[in-house]
Amino acid sequence: LTELMETLPYGPAPEAAQPALDWIKAHKGRFQLFIGGRWRSPASQEWFTTINPANNQPLAEVAQASAADVDEAVKAARKAFASWRQTKGHVRARYLYALARQIQKHARLFAVLETLDNGKPIRETRDIDIPLVARHFYYHAGWAQLMESELAGYGPLGVVGQIIPWNFPLLMLAWKIAPALAMGNTVVLKPAEFTPLTALLFAEICQQISLPPGVVNIITGDGKTGAALVEHPGVDKIAFTGSTEVGRLIRKATAGSGKKLSLELGGKSPFVVFEDADLDSAVEGVVDAIWFNQGQVCCAGSRLLVQEGIAEKMYAKLRARMEKLRVGDPLDKAVDIGAIIAPVQLQKIQRLVQKGVEEGAKLWQPSWAVPAEGCFYPPTLFTEVAPSSTIAQEEIFGPVLAALTFRTPEEAVRLANNTRYGLAASIWSEDINLALDVATQIKAGTIWINSTNLFDAASGFGGYRESGFGREGGKEGLWEYVKKTAESKAAKSQKASPPSRKTEA
Ligand code: NAD
Repeated sequence: LTELMETLPYGPAPEAAQPALDWIKAHKGRFQLFIGGRWRSPASQEWFTTINPANNQPLAEVAQASAADVDEAVKAARKAFASWRQTKGHVRARYLYALARQIQKHARLFAVLETLDNGKPIRETRDIDIPLVARHFYYHAGWAQLMESELAGYGPLGVVGQIIPWNFPLLMLAWKIAPALAMGNTVVLKPAEFTPLTALLFAEICQQISLPPGVVNIITGDGKTGAALVEHPGVDKIAFTGSTEVGRLIRKATAGSGKKLSLELGGKSPFVVFEDADLDSAVEGVVDAIWFNQGQVCCAGSRLLVQEGIAEKMYAKLRARMEKLRVGDPLDKAVDIGAIIAPVQLQKIQRLVQKGVEEGAKLWQPSWAVPAEGCFYPPTLFTEVAPSSTIAQEEIFGPVLAALTFRTPEEAVRLANNTRYGLAASIWSEDINLALDVATQIKAGTIWINSTNLFDAASGFGGYRESGFGREGGKEGLWEYVKKTAESKAAKSQKASPPSRKTEA
């Protein structure tokens, strides 16, 4: 630990990093597990290091939870469930409002910490991620209050195991925890091993607002910890966001177990531009679709489908825009593209780009170089991409755009649907009839017209096919966290026999 402390970047760090570095320092650079409202060392005494991908320096040591710790966390959640489920909706709402308020109060600390741990630009954490996190807690506080009237006859599931990825660490936590708590469940959440820090700060906020112990438990660790949570017999539901590969493993592991399951997986979303589109707006749309969060976005518009007649013009505008994008220190407010999450992901991107070149697509990157230190990759455009090639089919999860052309709306629809995924799509045309007609034919959970990446707590999000199943957000998302109560089932079976009161009346 002393060695680690010596290497921590506490020296000439940019001023903006200081609040988060001070917070880490106040914990002596080491974080335990949050179980039953208390901080505990992992049973195995194993720890792992989380790094800042912008400089590859260690940030902190974090507990590696084993199956024994998972068991403790599930027990704590089960114990808490007994009274949490009895708590009135308006009381649960008060806790959720308090969480939202505290997140807003500590927004700067959360934003800086997220940027340090993940590498995403401070502009995004400050203006998008953290405000949306607060919004999710506010929104679901409203639903907690309304549950007894709007979802009459439904009750909580019990203990929910939640496993999240590293691309939107705190936002994915909010998507999972807010609806679960609102509906009266208790949770055991495992953040991704690359980005555990904001979840741990969130645990402190739970303590600050005196959330009853065990309602939220945060266990850090890698895939083994996640697998132990999935397999634990005391868990009533698993909510997972992550790769399609791990989603498949979880589906197998939970099959026949009676556990409810929701999966939010990968994507290869089409960004369709018709020749009558406002090209300048469409180009800005592309910037947002594929270079937001370095392209590490499940619904990233990673396939540009452009109508043949305007393709060259669109590419020229796009190249000019790409030349002006800035890649670098994520704490710099002027930076557009920050760091890739980790060397292993950077290598995956490099490998897939190499594959694209080998398969004959035409590569274009800006003339400038990215910083040599840290995990950086330039915005990348592939044109002349064959529909069946690897870069047109596989999720790269990086700042790489694959462009294909089409002639007719029918061909655009065919290409858009030529994927094993079905998460999102974006359609650009000044002809709203054409856009709406095409929208109805594309198989995707979310479709944006003349816009992209618009999210709100009130609208459901989720995929078709290999992008997963179940919805998060909005009223749709609540059904993932409730089941019919025994009383409502009994009432229904009574209603089924002789005429109901309503009919009599
Ligand atoms: P990942 O599947 O490798 O990891 C996700 C989480 O699962 C991590 O917490 C990890 O520790 C855990 N995990 C790994 N192996 C496990 C196992 N065998 N059992 C249980 N848990 C296990 O994914 P990632 O690389 O962290 O995230 C990127 C992926 O997430 C991309 O494919 C992206 O498209 C997807 N994603 C989807 C959405 C969505 O809403 N659909 C949102 C964000 C990210």
